[in-house]
Amino acid sequence: MKFKRPLKITSRSSSVTNGFVQAIIPSVEPTPEKRSEALAQLGMTPDAITCIYCGAAATDWDHLRPLVRKKRPTGYINEVRNLVPSCGPCNQSKSGSDWRRWMVSAARGSPKAKGVADLDERIARLESFEAWGKVEPLDLRDLAGAENWESYWQRLATIEQKMQEAQLQAAELQAAIRGALSTREGAVSFGTPESVKKDDGETAR
Ligand SMILES: [Zn+2]
Repeated sequence: MKFKRPLKITSRSSSVTNGFVQAIIPSVEPTPEKRSEALAQLGMTPDAITCIYCGAAATDWDHLRPLVRKKRPTGYINEVRNLVPSCGPCNQSKSGSDWRRWMVSAARGSPKAKGVADLDERIARLESFEAWGKVEPLDLRDLAGAENWESYWQRLATIEQKMQEAQLQAAELQAAIRGALSTREGAVSFGTPESVKKDDGETAR
């Protein structure tokens, strides 16, 4: 059984940030008609959905315009006008990039890098999709109220600070425990076995 490097409290920081961001991004459930209309812009029907970027089997709905940038909501939301079918590898490679720049970039896993033959055609379909959707980012700060907005992100900063303090204390506890166990056989380390699932469903990292 292999042991991974110790899990730090602060290694959960990005999950916490992500929770704060995702908790306030609105979703609009599309009607089947609207979904069909959106897919038609991409040259697809609900029965024949493929990755718009490369043509592989689609497994994800990708946000054409990213919802999050620099740990803050961009103002783009979960709505049919901002969702395109994607394969997992394209979704991961694109991540928070501008879709057009990413498609023609040399980035690992980009359609250009993968040698997708009908790249121009795919870009044209996405342009048509965007022209149809006319998506503009919402000013979430304004919609929420500036004061509420600022105190929300201040709260996140406070939690991150508390996590750093807790990590420092954890290091002290570890040193004490390690010292107390120093007469035992085998070196004491802190961490979790690789294959153990955590309570929150995440695989131990
Ligand atoms: Zn793809």
